[in-house]
Amino acid sequence: MSPVATIRDYDVVIVGAGPAGMTAALYTGRAMLRTAVLERGFPGGELLNTEYLDDVIGFPKVLGHELAEKFAAHAKQFGAEFFETTSVTSVKKMPDGYFHTETETGDIFRSPAAIVTAGGTPIKLGIPGELEYAGRGVSYCAICDAAFFKQQVVAVVGGGDAAVEEGDFLTRYANKVYLIHRRHEFRASKILQQHVFDNPKIEVIWDTVAEEVEGDPQSGMTGLRIHNLVTQERRLLDATGLFVFIGFRPNTGVIAGHFDHDIMGYVLTDNAMMTSMPGLFVAGDLRAQLTRQVTTASGDATTAAIAADKYITRFKEMQREGSTTAEREALESSHVSAGGYT
Ligand SMILES: Cc1cc2nc3c(=O)[nH]c(=O)nc-3n(C[C@H](O)[C@H](O)[C@H](O)COP(=O)(O)OP(=O)(O)OC[C@H]3O[C@@H](n4cnc5c(N)ncnc54)[C@H](O)[C@@H]3O)c2cc1C
Repeated sequence: MSPVATIRDYDVVIVGAGPAGMTAALYTGRAMLRTAVLERGFPGGELLNTEYLDDVIGFPKVLGHELAEKFAAHAKQFGAEFFETTSVTSVKKMPDGYFHTETETGDIFRSPAAIVTAGGTPIKLGIPGELEYAGRGVSYCAICDAAFFKQQVVAVVGGGDAAVEEGDFLTRYANKVYLIHRRHEFRASKILQQHVFDNPKIEVIWDTVAEEVEGDPQSGMTGLRIHNLVTQERRLLDATGLFVFIGFRPNTGVIAGHFDHDIMGYVLTDNAMMTSMPGLFVAGDLRAQLTRQVTTASGDATTAAIAADKYITRFKEMQREGSTTAEREALESSHVSAGGYT
């Protein structure tokens, strides 16, 4: 902590203001909890990187940044305090049961419960044109964007379960899907591979890497340059879409101390969104779950906020009663074993 750092007290601190963080803020604000939302950029999360969405119920077609503005305005309406351009460096549970959420300036936000909704980052290919045409041909989410590629030719890069499964899914819309893998064998499970090999709309291109996304400012992506690492042949695929599935990094680095996670690093929770660290809740893309969408992030966050409210109420009751650390820990673990609040 720097010498001029301040300690501010809140009921709950939310890390990240994407769909999950903003939904959590709406609910904790509405529950009259003193809420701080710490966001390293501006409210919106991945919505700010998404051109259009057509799968958020009630919004048949909406611009990502417009939806972000609507979410933020609604979340702020109930009193949550938003701290923008405030990057969190760590969320740490102290021996007295409080969380200290520290920012890069050394300020500390102290609260009995914390909700981390820091999302994750799709791993990029790092090739020319990839970022330029992101949202205008290049995508990292087939469920989100497949419908924009009806009757078109698209390429998928990757060799794991996600690439193979999403490639198969894309053929519901696209006329043809090139599945490009730098090796001569997929890592994906055999059953998923079989779906791909049986699908006449998919052509697998082995031993090959994507080299450059081509396009023009008006129409977006128009082609993908690829390079066969065995034959050294280079060619241009006539694809108007590129789906990259080479991994996703959950932003869990801010959580100090041990927390249970799956093999990919996603945070495991009980059904109240509480982690193995009592009082620490997570919601959205960094949580281990089947899918990662705006609506699931909001759904998780609703549960997390309501569960956090109940946790905070009990935490404060115990403080008033002067409970010992042992009593507090027993109560915290009773929540975990019960798998939720009643
Ligand atoms: C290109 C693209 C298109 C998509 N299209 C759709 C779609 O059409 N429909 C759909 O339902 N879903 C779509 N998704 C998925 C959807 O955007 C995510 O599932 C959703 O945004 C997850 O919300 P979140 O709040 O968990 O995380 P995020 O949206 O990732 O938000 C996390 C927030 O935490 C902040 N943060 C991270 N670390 C820190 C830190 N240390 N300190 C402070 N703040 C921090 C980030 O800046 C960010 O604002 C798309 C995703 C991508 C990448």
